[in-house]
Order: sequence, then C-alpha cells, then structure tokens
Amino acid sequence: MGKGTPSKGKKNKAASHKTCRRCGKHSYHRRKRFCASCGFGRTAKLRQPSWRNRNRPFNGQKSFYRHKAKA
Ligand SMILES: [Zn+2]
Repeated sequence: MGKGTPSKGKKNKAASHKTCRRCGKHSYHRRKRFCASCGFGRTAKLRQPSWRNRNRPFNGQKSFYRHKAKA
C-alpha cells in the first residue's frame, strides 16, 4: 500500500494522536511516537515554536528537521 488515495481510507479507524504524558495535550502521535505540541519522544527539551525554521509546509520527511532554511 502506497501513500496515495487507497491508504487514506484507513485514516478513520484509530486516532492518530492521544494524550501526551508530558504536556497533557492530545498531540502525542501514536505511530510516530512523538508529541506534536511539546516534542516529547523526539526531544529531551520542551519543543519551542521558535524552533521552526521551515520555509515550506512539512512534507513528511524527517530530513526537514536537520536542515536550516537558507537565508
Ligand atoms: Zn506533549
């Protein structure tokens, strides 16, 4: 199964996020195992909004987190 339309049909079966045990928000991704709000599971520190350095929408690739946007 690829990433296209057929796989999107699975999106309604289980919640992708559940309550985070660090920040308490409903932002902890169950499959990716990190919190979208505080970064729990990905960072030891609380995620800060200012960490964003992207100049384009998140496209699902982790490489995005490793590179700073060119000035
Ligand atoms: Zn959290």
